Amino acid sequence: DKKVVLITGCSSGIGLSLAVRLASDPNKTFKVYATMRNLAKKERLLESVKGLHKDTLDILQMDVTDRQSILDARDRVVEKRVDILVCNAGVGLMGPLELQSLDTMRQILEVNLFGTIQTIQAFLPEMKAQGQGRILVTGSTGGLHGLPFNEVYCASKFAIEGACESLAVLLQHFNIHVSLIECGPVNTDFLVNLQKVELGDTSLEQLDTHTLGLYEKYLQHCDSVFQNAAQDTEDIVKVFLDAIQSPSPLFRYFTSGVVPPLTQLKITQPDGSQCIRSMSKIIFSSEEK
Ligand code: NAD
Repeated sequence: DKKVVLITGCSSGIGLSLAVRLASDPNKTFKVYATMRNLAKKERLLESVKGLHKDTLDILQMDVTDRQSILDARDRVVEKRVDILVCNAGVGLMGPLELQSLDTMRQILEVNLFGTIQTIQAFLPEMKAQGQGRILVTGSTGGLHGLPFNEVYCASKFAIEGACESLAVLLQHFNIHVSLIECGPVNTDFLVNLQKVELGDTSLEQLDTHTLGLYEKYLQHCDSVFQNAAQDTEDIVKVFLDAIQSPSPLFRYFTSGVVPPLTQLKITQPDGSQCIRSMSKIIFSSEEK
């Protein structure tokens, strides 16, 4: 019997790569339900699998912010069970906090937090009844330490950590394993898809010059990190596979292979001062006092 995998956010990036890898598995181990909010974007996925995988891949519409679309997708799984649920859909939000509207902030939480939670909710009763299951969530180092100009994104990803850790404790009793795949920067459409206050935006005219200067520095830092240190989706997919293939998966996987230094600092220096100073130094170095 194939393992039934359902993945959210498969029109690009990590979700797309994972869907392609699992659907093309040489042993045909998986039946993949690759879901996406907008089916008009399915071409890229179809091109990547080269149409060879009709028996291992199905594409379904699912908007994680729309409960009915989640339930409809669930009902279209012909096996009537999902062995491995991958909550991957997510969006970024970047810019000075004073300029973010409540609506925009809500949207980020709708997708990243409630989208993930309500997807899990929809599949949980079935997994509990089966007495087995895997829930994998694309986490972020932005869910482990704060990042300036990413307050709401980090809040959403920190929230995911809390939700998943709480669930993991309970779901042990049902033989359901929850794992977070913690990613640093990855080469995907993330930077294109994120909501960002651009340097030319008129909204920046209201901003004090000190914050503006720091924001410019942050954007430069961000560019150079994505150019020099971003991982490819294939590297991330390997870590997902580790978690999927392990008989007793860990709760957290770090795609870089090590606990990120700032996360380490948070553990060894829980008062937070070193972590915050180091982050500031990394991003704004010349501004450091
Ligand atoms: P991406 O933008 O290429 O992929 C995100 C996908 O989520 C897109 O296909 C998008 O259409 C989808 N999505 C957005 N809103 C949705 C909704 N309401 N319903 C269903 N799908 C929706 O970027 P990615 O890097 O592949 O992002 C995947 C996950 O990885 C996200 O959760 C992101 O936060 C996380 N992540 C990314 C990075 C990075 O640097 N790229 C770093 C850490 C974590």
